[in-house]
Amino acid sequence: MTPQKSVRDYIRTIVDFPHEGIFFRDVTTLFADPRGFRLCVDQLLHPYAGQRIDKVVGLEARGFILGGAVAHQLGTGFVPIRKKGKLPHTTISQDYKLEYGEAIVEIHDDAIQPGETVLVVDDLLATGGTAEAGIKLIERLGGQIVGCAFVVDLPDLGGRDRLTQLGMEVHALCA
Ligand code: AMP
Repeated sequence: MTPQKSVRDYIRTIVDFPHEGIFFRDVTTLFADPRGFRLCVDQLLHPYAGQRIDKVVGLEARGFILGGAVAHQLGTGFVPIRKKGKLPHTTISQDYKLEYGEAIVEIHDDAIQPGETVLVVDDLLATGGTAEAGIKLIERLGGQIVGCAFVVDLPDLGGRDRLTQLGMEVHALCA
C-alpha cells in the first residue's frame, strides 16, 4: 500500500522566485488537488474545532482562499485584510517593514466588533511582519485573537518567535 501524502508533499518549491535566493513555497499545487486542499483545510482548523470563533481573518492573498474555506467549515464569518487602497469602505491602516521598503495593510473599521474572537489564517509565516501588522489591526478593533494558523512555517526567519512574543498561539502544518 502506498503511504498517504502529507500536506507538505503537495507543495512545490520554486527556486529564485521572485528574487534570487528565495525558495518560494508554491501552494497552488496544494490548492489544486482535491485531497490536498481538503486535508490542508481540515488540519488548519483542527485545533480550533469546538472553540468559540466569531471571525476568520485572511491575509491577502492566499489567506483569502484558505480563510474562506476554514470560515465555511467552522460556520463563522470571513474578514479580509488587504493591501492599501483595495477595500471600498472606511478602513484603519497599519504599516510594516518589508525586506526592501515598507507596506501598508488595511481592514474595514466595522469588520470586527470589540470582544469578538478571531482566528488569523495565511499560507506562510516567514519574518512574521505581515501577520504582526494584521494582528495589530485586529487588536485595534478590539478583537481577541485565539490563534494564527499557517500552512508553512519557515522558523529560521523568526516569524514564530515574533508572534509568540506577542502572546500569539501559532499553528503550522509544515516547515
Ligand atoms: P512575512 O511577512 O515575512 O512573514 O511573509 C509572509 C507573507 O509573504 C505571506 O503572505 C507569504 O505568502 C509571503 N511569503 C514570504 N516568503 C515566502 C516564500 N518563501 N514562499 C512563499 N510565500 C512567501
